[in-house]
Amino acid sequence: MKNTIAIVGRPNVGKSTLFNRLVGHRKAIMDNQSGVTRDRHYGYGEWIGKHFTVIDTGGYVHGSDDVFEEGIRRQVKLAIDEADVVLFMVDVDAGMHGLDEEFANVLRRYQGKKPIYLVGNKADTNARAHAAGEFYALGVGDGDIFTISSQSGSGTGDLLDAVVSHFEDPWEEVTETELPKIAVVGRPNVGKSSLVNLLLGEERTIVTDIAGTTRDAIKTRYNAFGNEFILIDTAGLRRKTKVKEDIEFYSVLRSIRAMEESDVCIVMLDATRGVEAQDVNIIALADKNRKGIVILVNKWDLVEDKETNTTKKIEEQIYEKIAPIAYPPIIFTSVLTKQRVHKAIETAITVYENKTKKIPTSQLNEVMLRVIEEHQPPSTKGKMVRIKYVTQLPTHNPVFAFFCNLPQYVSESYTRYLENRLRENFDFGGVPIGIIFRKK
Ligand code: GDP
Ligand code: GDP
Repeated sequence: MKNTIAIVGRPNVGKSTLFNRLVGHRKAIMDNQSGVTRDRHYGYGEWIGKHFTVIDTGGYVHGSDDVFEEGIRRQVKLAIDEADVVLFMVDVDAGMHGLDEEFANVLRRYQGKKPIYLVGNKADTNARAHAAGEFYALGVGDGDIFTISSQSGSGTGDLLDAVVSHFEDPWEEVTETELPKIAVVGRPNVGKSSLVNLLLGEERTIVTDIAGTTRDAIKTRYNAFGNEFILIDTAGLRRKTKVKEDIEFYSVLRSIRAMEESDVCIVMLDATRGVEAQDVNIIALADKNRKGIVILVNKWDLVEDKETNTTKKIEEQIYEKIAPIAYPPIIFTSVLTKQRVHKAIETAITVYENKTKKIPTSQLNEVMLRVIEEHQPPSTKGKMVRIKYVTQLPTHNPVFAFFCNLPQYVSESYTRYLENRLRENFDFGGVPIGIIFRKK
């Protein structure tokens, strides 16, 4: 599944405003992490049940010490390489700008390769929307222009309808059983390549090499010690680039790519550095994309003075930083000394099993109706919610539908109560679970 949108355009047309609108609803997770929101250039959004990642390339390419033309070329290349749909934004209030034409010149070279939409922003009024006509001359996109106001949100619904038509629905029904797809992700230098090399090099049991392109993650069939899965990694994909911040940025985008294609992500952290904002970002994205997650605290060999409760303390710190995400198992590894590497793999497989298992409806109701009996949904606005039965939907990820009389009156805290009881009674370790209420 690849659902990535990139927004390109000259400075000040409103790219970050649109970006924030598209990913706005995940503020709750992001904002309590200082530094996370400030310099994030990608985020997660949803529209009519479709999930996507948005990249704001403008927040990233500043022109800095590049000549400006080079900056534009890089920004467009990045969008074309990394995204599945490109939004080219212009400012209909300001009118045509020389830089818009320069962007268009570069973008036109990629016409037909990826869907490119021309977006006329700041069309706050009808008059302004009509003024957008002059941008047709740019010759970018399918000949149409979407006039929107990122500030008020008007027009963005039509734009998103068009954009998400290119995307798959991650909740589609399961059609086939395949091998688990496990991605190794994380920031640069946490030990991803070392882990992949250890797994693939030492065991020498690569059965097939499913070809990867230069921009995609590499997929390798792994088969050892009774474990069989597709390993998705980005380890070898280091960009030749002179620009320092490119390395981190590309590496995180690679991780997102690998993550999107996986069932379970092994998110690696560096034990000597603790959890950093970027790590939290990756984990939050994996959660939002409903991937299974295993966290490895790697380079454990470098941690000195390990006491009996050191791991406990570190676990607490990690869970605190990634709250409210509480389900990923944490494993302390050293790829260098091969400590707990197999445990990590086995855990990832278990997470996959948890993610794909189906609880029989009778068993589910037996347990959950008792749980509901013990603690009924509190009445809101004088309304009594009565849950009649529950069933697990035939989706890729565990989603439970609770059928009741007044689905709209179930509170957030009661939803959490149900989730916690589900997790206590059925093992969903490492797996995000969805809970929805439907009218009976
Ligand atoms: P970027 O440099 O392309 O990321 O642009 P920003 O998102 O930072 O926006 C530049 C300026 O345009 C800011 O002052 C925004 O508040 C303003 N802006 C963005 N979208 C709109 C819009 O739809 N209407 C109006 N009137 N102003 C907007
Ligand atoms: P990547 O950028 O995430 O692929 O990280 P690499 O696998 O290239 O590792 C970065 C550096 O950390 C290399 O010098 C590795 O040898 C080292 N490294 C990786 N895993 C461990 C570990 O468990 N312990 C120690 N001490 N070093 C490690």
